[in-house]
Amino acid sequence: MLMNFLEEKILLDGTIKQGNILKIDSFLNHQIDIDIIRQIAYELKRRFKGVEVTKVLTIEASGIAIATMLGNLYDVPVVFAKKSETANSTDDKYVSQAYSFTHKKMNSVFVSRPYLQASDRVLIVDDFLADGQAALALMDLVHQAGGKVSGVGIAVEKGQQKGGKMLREMGCKLESIAIVEEMDWEKQTIQFREQPKRKLGKTNLKKK
Ligand code: 5GP
Repeated sequence: MLMNFLEEKILLDGTIKQGNILKIDSFLNHQIDIDIIRQIAYELKRRFKGVEVTKVLTIEASGIAIATMLGNLYDVPVVFAKKSETANSTDDKYVSQAYSFTHKKMNSVFVSRPYLQASDRVLIVDDFLADGQAALALMDLVHQAGGKVSGVGIAVEKGQQKGGKMLREMGCKLESIAIVEEMDWEKQTIQFREQPKRKLGKTNLKKK
């Protein structure tokens, strides 16, 4: 199987933890490898070619690096939803709920009202997609503001969990650079889903 840069990096530097957790702290979730983040951003921009994007939205904390690099490429503002256990008032913010897969608890997630508008066409991005709770909450915030979701861009989708299937069945344009099909904690093995091959564009070699 031909692997892309992110799949190769996961095989090289990722570790599998008990409880179906993939740890990629050395390049995304703790230390940030700028070259990998840059490649993720370019690849997402390529996959969403032709889609209108006025804002990039993510959720704190690990989505911010990817979102910032992508916002730079689109030259649009980047917003990150904040997590809180106590955000109940909706006077000045849009609030939604998301169950955290990694922390096993409910979080309120919110964005202050001025930072999401009805005119926004929002590209949602995150580091991981597991059960889709974070993505759904972010989509909900965009819809509360009257805006439209242009798509959801993910670095690593865990294909054994329900988020990807759910979002695709909803008709959402979802792009995940690496999709983990199976991972085995004891053997430390990982298998990726085959993805459509990247088409090479025509190269216009200038005649010398
Ligand atoms: P979901 O909301 O789709 O169930 O989970 C996505 C969120 O949980 C992501 O924002 C990510 O931070 C975290 N997450 C889920 N699975 C993993 C994992 O295997 N490894 C890491 N590092 N984070 C994960």
